[in-house]
Amino acid sequence: MKFGGTSVGDGKRIKHVAELAKQFHDRGDEVVLVTSALSGVTDALLKNATEASETGKTSLVKEFIADLTKQHHLAAHEAINNNGIVEIVSNEIDSRIEELEKALTGICYLGELTARSIDYISSYGERLAAPIICGSLNSIGVSSESLTGGEAGIITNDNFQNAIPLEESYSLLKERLGPLLPDKIPVVTGFIAQTESGIITTLGRGGSDFTASIIGAALEADEIWLWKEVHGIMTTDPRIVPEAKPIPVLSYIEAMELSYFGAKVLHPKAIEPAIRHGIPVRVKNTFEPESPGTLVVKDERLSKDIVKAVTVIRNVALINISGAGMVGTIGVAARVFTTLANAGVNIVMISQGSSEANISIVVDENHLNKAVKAIKSEFKNGIIKDITPDRNISVVAVVGAGMAGTPGVAGRVFNALGKAGVNVIMISQGSSQHNISFAVSADGDQKAVQVLHKEFGLDK
Ligand code: ADP
Ligand code: ASP
Ligand code: MG
Repeated sequence: MKFGGTSVGDGKRIKHVAELAKQFHDRGDEVVLVTSALSGVTDALLKNATEASETGKTSLVKEFIADLTKQHHLAAHEAINNNGIVEIVSNEIDSRIEELEKALTGICYLGELTARSIDYISSYGERLAAPIICGSLNSIGVSSESLTGGEAGIITNDNFQNAIPLEESYSLLKERLGPLLPDKIPVVTGFIAQTESGIITTLGRGGSDFTASIIGAALEADEIWLWKEVHGIMTTDPRIVPEAKPIPVLSYIEAMELSYFGAKVLHPKAIEPAIRHGIPVRVKNTFEPESPGTLVVKDERLSKDIVKAVTVIRNVALINISGAGMVGTIGVAARVFTTLANAGVNIVMISQGSSEANISIVVDENHLNKAVKAIKSEFKNGIIKDITPDRNISVVAVVGAGMAGTPGVAGRVFNALGKAGVNVIMISQGSSQHNISFAVSADGDQKAVQVLHKEFGLDK
């Protein structure tokens, strides 16, 4: 069971989480609990690390450390109703925060922030949360132990900020967590792991979903549960369309496509480990545990819903590459993609017209500059005439396994958008036919999502 940042947002919520986990433990379930940082803490850690490196002001670090200490002490007091345990946990919090302060102060003096230090700093959110949840469980009579992702057995490469777990993690996790069950509820920090030599890494923002799935797969769990503050995976982001509804059942492929195409509710890699043993993944609401949430399973249930969800990816940019010299020249696309891969650019979407005179590529906005620079330097010889970037872009996707083999879905999508006056800049449909994605100008993305949500009756 993984609990997200909002679910463990303060002491009262942590107490609720501990009681919820206890209920399942009491009915005989073997539970491993994976926790995120208290909501907002990871963002605050990153912000303060950047500020420290840019301003060098240790006074700002001191202020931040004082706030963080207060927040976590308060949470411990509210979550744990046993003075002895509160004291132990508070001491643990203090010693961790002391390390963090040293690191942030060091960054002030050095004036530099590497990917490796970003991972080290951002790991403190989860490292401060886990002991509080563990203390809360202990205080209601459930034996518990808190571990970092690395201590539990998640070993990754050193691709900081987006590290990839090594295969050995699966056997290590089983070896280390297995013996703690069923008596204890181990509390493992989500999001963070470590390299073989013990250096802290992170699995990418929102990575606790991924942690839970890796652990579930390693233990061959019956189910992997992701507890959040929403009713499950919904037909679209409820912040964009308030009428969005929870989707009762999704296939692995649908859930993966949804998360690749921007549904922030799931980490994009969270489904992969579950697939190893066909483990069902449930997304549930911490604050309404009785409501069924979403079940993600192997089978593609043939449902009458052709389109199940609409998603949007923001903070992306479009690069248009064109030139008559590209027509019939073999290997241009391959060179473009190799160049971008070597430059470490993440490609979100591609499309090439059959005239072959242009290729459009959508990349992460913060990769745009290096992408343009890399392509320019690769094609100095003139095959490519124009490289035009556009920052004002969002990618919208409609997702659903029922689209495969159903004619007319694309027609309905673009017809509805046309009627609503939304201009489509670029289109791409994977041959899996589980999604249709397209780029629109960023100012029109909200309207595009609303129009399609309605067109496919997802509000009903
Ligand atoms: P947690 O931190 O608990 O993992 P997240 O904040 O990562 O939770 O994910 C939940 C958030 O994702 C919701 O607040 C919601 O605004 C957003 N979201 C975006 N798309 C969807 C979707 N299709 N279904 C549910 N939530 C979505
Ligand atoms: N705390 C981390 C983040 O904010 C990981 C997570 O919440 O899943 O990205
Ligand atoms: Mg998340």
